[in-house]
Amino acid sequence: MSNLSYANGGNGAWQTFLAQVDRVAPYLSEDLADYVDTLKRPKRALIVDVPIIMDDGSIQHFEGYRVQHNLSRGPGKGGIRYHPDVELNEVMALAAWMTIKTAVLNLPFGGAKGGVRVDPRKLSARELERLTRRFTSEIAHIIGPQKDIPAPDVGTNPNVMGWMMDTYSSGQGYTVTGVVTGKPVHLGGSLGRVKATGRGVYITGCQVAEKLSLNIENAKVSIQGFGNVGSEAANLFYLSNAKIVCIQDHTGTIFNASGIELNALHAYIEQHQGVDGFEGAERIDNEAFWDVETDIIIPAALEGQITVERAHRLKAKMILEGANGPTYPEADDILNERGIMIVPDVICNAGGVTVSYFEWVQDMASYFWSEAEINDRLDKLMVQAVEDVWACAHDNGCTLRTAAYILACERILKARKERGIFPG
Ligand code: NAD
Repeated sequence: MSNLSYANGGNGAWQTFLAQVDRVAPYLSEDLADYVDTLKRPKRALIVDVPIIMDDGSIQHFEGYRVQHNLSRGPGKGGIRYHPDVELNEVMALAAWMTIKTAVLNLPFGGAKGGVRVDPRKLSARELERLTRRFTSEIAHIIGPQKDIPAPDVGTNPNVMGWMMDTYSSGQGYTVTGVVTGKPVHLGGSLGRVKATGRGVYITGCQVAEKLSLNIENAKVSIQGFGNVGSEAANLFYLSNAKIVCIQDHTGTIFNASGIELNALHAYIEQHQGVDGFEGAERIDNEAFWDVETDIIIPAALEGQITVERAHRLKAKMILEGANGPTYPEADDILNERGIMIVPDVICNAGGVTVSYFEWVQDMASYFWSEAEINDRLDKLMVQAVEDVWACAHDNGCTLRTAAYILACERILKARKERGIFPG
């Protein structure tokens, strides 16, 4: 348990992260033992008030955060979340998972995350822009291409990144494309970025499926969350002739044992902003999502979804963690005992940050690559990372999650140790 005054007790995402660190600690090299505590506290956490004038002339205040968990290996990197449940505990955990993720992929970044406690669906486009610009100006002194580089997450998108880039650039007096990633392509964004996280889920999923002799063709796939990550992962599995049998989003859960026709579903969502009411599937209870007969489950919505109770009920052979932190540590143990393979978030959904890294490199060089080149580099890095994690799990007789943490924590803590503690 952390001794941080603002993160005591509870069962939040930060506590999940702390439990994950405790699990990996016994596997780390002895000379790094003194440095493990560095992971159990964020380097910097900023809470900001974001007041905006609403379209009706009233003033509303929103609470925003930017947490830099660890910068030992380079600038902070991590998304900005707009969601009504955003709070410090969650942002700290999300920042920490970015530290692990960038290290597993060996990207030259630390981990950071930000967010605003707001339901973006309840704001007009003008209000959303005002909120984004005010939030950006409040955190502007701690972000920057060499300091900390935000990106999209739940509830934010390339347009929001464009406003962030413009607001930050206005303050600097010149255009700074590299301050955020996930921007529109004509503002210095990278081809392939929007689809990168879902693509990474698919690539890592196929690679692990092959090791388990699980055939993707005709495999049944269930997906929670049909946004940026979930929908692209679904598209790629669908194109590989897997059957997408169940999809849940914030509007409800739909099921079709013969497979949901995705083109029709996308057209339906364009019109109705959610899966509920789609005629090509049957509506089932949200909780029944976890009982569906399926080979692969992809949680791609929010953290804390796979509880102990759901872990006992799940029928899948493999879980691909598109979302960050969807599985509680105690549920991890049950899934492991039941022989259900988990491809952990810190590798499974790392496609987004990997192409964000490519975007940052392209912005710095002002030289842009083709989509084929980006996908090729992405696939190679992710395949290599899965191989490294798989070998580490084999060598240590541990889960893929613990193996990913071993590789990442060794890299982070070596960097911490070699930099030394100032003042000496
Ligand atoms: P998004 O906003 O595009 O989509 C979120 C989806 O989750 C939507 O379909 C929404 O309806 C659904 N959802 C929200 N609340 C829900 C609930 N209570 N029950 C069921 N469904 C619900 O977000 P995204 O970018 O796809 O992110 C999804 C997850 O993936 C998050 O955990 C995020 O941190 C993680 N992630 C995203 C990226 C990225 O590049 N976007 C990268 C790595 C990890």
